Amino acid sequence: MEGYHSPQLDVAVRLNTNEAPGPPPAAFNDRLAAALGEVDWHRYPDRSYRALRTAIAELHGVAPEQVFAANGSNEVLQTLCLAYGGPGRTAAVFEPTYALHSHIARVTGTGVAVGERAADFSLDLAEVRSVLAGTAPAITFLCSPNNPTGMVEPESLVRTVADEAPGLVVVDEAYGQFAPWSALELVDGDRPLVVTRTFSKTWSMAAARLGYLVGPAWLVAELDKVVLPYHLDAFKQAAGTVALGFLDEMHERVAHLVEERGRVAAALAELPVDVWPSGANFILFRPQDSAGDQVWKDLVARSVLVRNCASWPRLEGCLRVTIGTRAEDDTFLAALREALA
Ligand code: PMP
Repeated sequence: MEGYHSPQLDVAVRLNTNEAPGPPPAAFNDRLAAALGEVDWHRYPDRSYRALRTAIAELHGVAPEQVFAANGSNEVLQTLCLAYGGPGRTAAVFEPTYALHSHIARVTGTGVAVGERAADFSLDLAEVRSVLAGTAPAITFLCSPNNPTGMVEPESLVRTVADEAPGLVVVDEAYGQFAPWSALELVDGDRPLVVTRTFSKTWSMAAARLGYLVGPAWLVAELDKVVLPYHLDAFKQAAGTVALGFLDEMHERVAHLVEERGRVAAALAELPVDVWPSGANFILFRPQDSAGDQVWKDLVARSVLVRNCASWPRLEGCLRVTIGTRAEDDTFLAALREALA
């Protein structure tokens, strides 16, 4: 099987993995240092990460029993597949979407049913219904805003899928803070639907490797049985809990990135590239007259790294750029103008 490749190169401007362009506030470091001074390093950490779980629950107005956290939202997705997928079961994905959904499913022995998005990358309800009816997936993955297209899924469509899917519905909201609505509204005590989130993007915490889901308490209890004991170390529990004290700063970061995204999108619209509208902190685009692969190389030669999707199925010739600082985005745009010329 193929591994998951997301090449990192030593370049001046890295706009390839959708991280936030800057670190958490300086006060974060001070508070984290103080919190780490309290850790009993010779003891295993709090297995049920009570403080972090409670802080996440308060953020979303749910009970702590409805929160499951792990080492990045990728590990949350993996735990879901371990619990609800496996041999003889199928997970449904609608391509193009986040590559790890099908990858993690396969790694856990889960079959993968691939549905196709429409030509404009929107979800086509008839196609969704046909995949659900034809394969009866144990897990249906949705992603909103969708990576790598940037599209926010319409609320009515996600509600319909939630009502009609025969098994668990996972709505991956790694970029959820950028969207005008959230599937968190659909989480209740009953329905097998979870929403996954991450600290890696809007919280400026990719180095911490921390993600979580919100779902029904009975489902979280199943995940607690499957995940390894003490999977969340004390350092991470402290970092996540401290980070949640900077909620206003996170919202400001998102607002700033949305403004900057508008500026980059407007600049791209002036160039010979097709651009897809984005509801996240990245933009998918396709050079019209040059091969995407060559443009990617020409950008790297100018020390700018974007995500090369040019050889991915359904994304022929496409590149994806993360919104960075104003200076980084200007460097990217100047390099792109040269590469296209
Ligand atoms: N879901 C989506 C849609 C993503 O784009 C990413 C990061 N690329 C993740 C999940 C995983 O993020 P992490 O494991 O860092 O939380």
